[in-house]
Amino acid sequence: MAENKLQEYKCPNCTGPLEFQGDIQKMVCEYCGSEFDMSEFKQSAEQKQEKNSEWEQKQSAELAAGANGMQEWECKACGAVLVSDGQVGATECPYCGNPAIVESTFSGMNLPDGIIPFAIKKDTAMQKMKDFYSGKKLIPDEFVKNNRMEKIQGVYVPFWLFDCGARGTGFYKATKVKRRFTKTVKDSNGQDIQEHWKEVEEYAVSRSAHMRYAKVPADGAKEMKDEYMDSIEPFDYSKIIDYEPAYFSGYLANKYDESAEEVKGRVDTRIKSTTESAIRETVTGYDSVNQESCNITIEDGKIDYCMLPVWMLTTRWNGGQYTFAVNGQTGKVTGDMPVDNNKATAMFFKTLLICAVICAVIGYFVLSDIVTAVIVAAVIGLIVGAITVSSAKSSMVSHQKTEASEYLLKDTFKLTGQNDRYVRSYEEKG
Ligand SMILES: [Zn+2]
Ligand SMILES: [Zn+2]
Repeated sequence: MAENKLQEYKCPNCTGPLEFQGDIQKMVCEYCGSEFDMSEFKQSAEQKQEKNSEWEQKQSAELAAGANGMQEWECKACGAVLVSDGQVGATECPYCGNPAIVESTFSGMNLPDGIIPFAIKKDTAMQKMKDFYSGKKLIPDEFVKNNRMEKIQGVYVPFWLFDCGARGTGFYKATKVKRRFTKTVKDSNGQDIQEHWKEVEEYAVSRSAHMRYAKVPADGAKEMKDEYMDSIEPFDYSKIIDYEPAYFSGYLANKYDESAEEVKGRVDTRIKSTTESAIRETVTGYDSVNQESCNITIEDGKIDYCMLPVWMLTTRWNGGQYTFAVNGQTGKVTGDMPVDNNKATAMFFKTLLICAVICAVIGYFVLSDIVTAVIVAAVIGLIVGAITVSSAKSSMVSHQKTEASEYLLKDTFKLTGQNDRYVRSYEEKG
């Protein structure tokens, strides 16, 4: 098939990728078999504009400026605005560690629709942090000594929780091996040799599905690195209750400074990636499957504004800024930590040495050649040492999430269309 792939053109009937076939001068969809003249195609493509998903958002209740007993602090370094009911003071910024946090008059705030109250007390949060530290081999002793753990603060972090449906169609090139056989051919010296061949059937496969997601979270605090909040997921949403002022007592609350609209892109990306893999998993019974494209639409979105409990501590050390966050409901900890380069070097050589000695002993008996055994042992030792150190370093920083599988409601998954269209057969060596 001699054709140009025009990835940007979608079939008006099934949204599959269209290909221009030079021999018939038409745009062809392998997935549903439709053919279009260029002129005809352009018209119908213009008619079908992709519509944007719309999100429904409740109007949150407000606590008026100057409300009784309410205090407000602003961090001049990172811009975080924190409030409390006067029972607890902010001693330093939990997000950036700035100690010069300025008190000002309460300027009012949107109250959340729901809240998960703190279930973990301060001393438990500190213990969880200690356990988290002690598992890390490369943390500098100085940092542990000066960690000021008692400065940890309980903060209600504003979150946007997204409920929505996702509809998508995936297009795949799939193959089945029909049979295997051998061919007798002549090599360059004219000798007969046996070659392994197979007969392959190619299919154009499409799958459409619909599914729902519940409460995919994104925090509404600009100052908060997304990695931290992603890493302490999930929260147990069955414990969300209506907001009552009493829950704020003894804790700080962070005013949101990122709207749902501003964080929606991050949620979209996570949902799309999970939807794509969920649809892909329904293509079975083939020996190979390659995705050509996948079109996903997010629909019927609803956004809730909730406050979730997080114990926060930011430490500045040797010019760097290190934040720890403890899920105030489950105790899950995340944080970025400095790496002690001397410890990393020591770990590397220790691993290398142990590994090399073991390999050299085994190698000597297997190869019965001391020189080769030593070379092999050194190479394996170097590789294992490097892997050990790099995985230890990676565990010292938090990572952002790129999918939303925890929030996919599995029993809402419905396959709404499937098509397996035979395209051609061919023979292939291998
Ligand atoms: Zn089509
Ligand atoms: Zn700050």
